[in-house]
Amino acid sequence: MKSTTQPSTLTSASYEELVREMLVRLGEDPDREGLTRTPERVQKAYEFLTRGYKEDPEALLRKALFTVTYDEMVIVKDVEMFSLCEHHMLPFFGKVHVAYIPNGKVIGLSKIPRLIEIFSRRLQIQERLTTQIAETIQKTIDFLQSVACENRQFKYLAGPCMTTNQSCPTQSNKLNRPEIFVSKQGARFRTNRRDKCVKLYGAGFAP
Ligand SMILES: [Zn+2]
Repeated sequence: MKSTTQPSTLTSASYEELVREMLVRLGEDPDREGLTRTPERVQKAYEFLTRGYKEDPEALLRKALFTVTYDEMVIVKDVEMFSLCEHHMLPFFGKVHVAYIPNGKVIGLSKIPRLIEIFSRRLQIQERLTTQIAETIQKTIDFLQSVACENRQFKYLAGPCMTTNQSCPTQSNKLNRPEIFVSKQGARFRTNRRDKCVKLYGAGFAP
């Protein structure tokens, strides 16, 4: 199909022009009433859905460290996440759990969901999402004995990942199968703590 917009180069085209061009290639009339403001809405939507690129996750955590003598496992469970898969830029969602054993410092509890949100608001695959969350916690407070991160029940709202065998991390054959990340330091979980984790999340937590 012939394009209606003719930007001199792709990089000089505005975001709205690019979306308008996509509508044309889909076979739509971007000038019909319902679509006239769609390019503007799409731009705002994607700026919102990918705003995590503009935020610094380590800076977020560094602002919220508190000295404590507590050394039991800290667990933040069932944090709702919503992201876009990097293979199709389609939405997927699920819940994330984070667990770590502090060693003199804890992270303000409200910052864990914020950390999850920063990484979720980028194009993702679930394995990288959990690794980035865990590694950021470790990097920021490197004296932690351990940190582990798990997410499960990732599901697609709709799209090709549900209907084909393409290698997308959230494709149907992985639905409801826990994806567990245990950090390199995971082996330092003491037995009683490891047992607690295993009880909560299953054998995947065992080093
Ligand atoms: Zn996908």
